[in-house]
Amino acid sequence: MKQGIPLKSGIIYGPVRSRRLGRSLGLNVSPVSYKLCSFNCVYCQYGWTDVHTLDTKPYAGDFPTVDDFTSALERILIEQKSEGIDNITFSGNGEPTLHPRFADLVDIAAELKKKYYPAARLGVLTNSSTVIMDKVHSALGRLDFRIMKLDAGNPETFREINRPCPQVDYQEILRYLKSMPNVTLQTMFVDGKFSNIGERQLAAWIERVGEIKPIKAQIYSLHRPAAASLLKEVPAEKLEEIAARTEDAIGVSVEAVVATAPYRPYTSEPGQR
Ligand code: SF4
Repeated sequence: MKQGIPLKSGIIYGPVRSRRLGRSLGLNVSPVSYKLCSFNCVYCQYGWTDVHTLDTKPYAGDFPTVDDFTSALERILIEQKSEGIDNITFSGNGEPTLHPRFADLVDIAAELKKKYYPAARLGVLTNSSTVIMDKVHSALGRLDFRIMKLDAGNPETFREINRPCPQVDYQEILRYLKSMPNVTLQTMFVDGKFSNIGERQLAAWIERVGEIKPIKAQIYSLHRPAAASLLKEVPAEKLEEIAARTEDAIGVSVEAVVATAPYRPYTSEPGQR
């Protein structure tokens, strides 16, 4: 049975109201009938990746078209006029920057935002795997915010937790992250069958964060069901401890994003992935 929550069924989701972010609108520009991603993270809320690739040309017909994206976004922005939108974020079913025309979508969303909600902020939640592509790199730079994934301080942990497709190179991602201004790093810490909170792994992660020098890092743990079984949520106290240790060591501000309640307990059932 496929683990995880169902994929989003359309281009727009939300807006949702959150205390931290205000009213946020999500943009899903990935296919809706299967999960396509350049990573296969053990903790992914959508379960295991169906199409694992950085090359999306063979799947181009499965992504939303530029016209459909434009009309869906304009429609919701008009509908929400009286309520207001604070943030518009590319995220969704897989890695949003893998859309073959991601750079055009960024420019269209920026125009529509300017027309309807000039005060709103336009950004992306990305797994960082595409920063090496010139067009994506420059489109990321045109956004108001970039929340970029870094779950591992070394290539071994990267392979274990994020399971990238073969074309993705950890050192290349690091090199580009270091060159990108105003990055917010986002890190998922997990424990159990797969873990990135061992002492050696944490020390390496802190070192990499110090090299990247993000404007801040957000760290969190499982809030949703995960692709792999036998994963354990990292307790809030441990996240707070990692945040304090990182701030002390390298002076980067770290926010521990703590779930109000663990989504599901650790299970020790045999025979699960
Ligand atoms: S990068 Fe995001 S969508 Fe892709 S497998 Fe990891 S958690 Fe899932």
